[in-house]
Amino acid sequence: MGSIMVTNRATSMGTDGVDLHRAVAGRLADHEQQYTANRRAVVDALAVAAAPITLPDLLAADDSLAQSSAYRSLSVLIDVGVVRRLVHLGDHALFELDEHLTEHHHHLICESCGIVLDVTLPDGVEAAMDLTFDDVASVLGFSPLHHSVDIYGTCATCTT
Ligand SMILES: [Zn+2]
Ligand SMILES: [Zn+2]
Repeated sequence: MGSIMVTNRATSMGTDGVDLHRAVAGRLADHEQQYTANRRAVVDALAVAAAPITLPDLLAADDSLAQSSAYRSLSVLIDVGVVRRLVHLGDHALFELDEHLTEHHHHLICESCGIVLDVTLPDGVEAAMDLTFDDVASVLGFSPLHHSVDIYGTCATCTT
């Protein structure tokens, strides 16, 4: 089994983002929504971020984004399944592109500063986890579809 990898979405998706934007446009069209310049800017900012980011992070990443319009774009993108809203600690909302647009991953969450890092696990570990989850769920007649596992602890900065 390999080691845990820290992912960088900008590289995992290619540099031009053509496939990403095509997928997002398709998802919006399915919901009779347009891929406006503002929604595209929000998707771009999330795509280059190496980890889930807050609304203020998003606004800082692209100074053409205004808070109200960015927030409206986020809500639409969440509604159509392009963006996921994560709440890990308190009311600290973080946003990331949905896994169908990036890749399956887990989060390392610092309980001290709240930073969230993405990690991917080796395929063998994912398969073993799914088998275990199938086993425990089947006892209750539950059919698992997917999992979300977050790891809480202290980040490198807060440890030193
Ligand atoms: Zn920390
Ligand atoms: Zn997993």
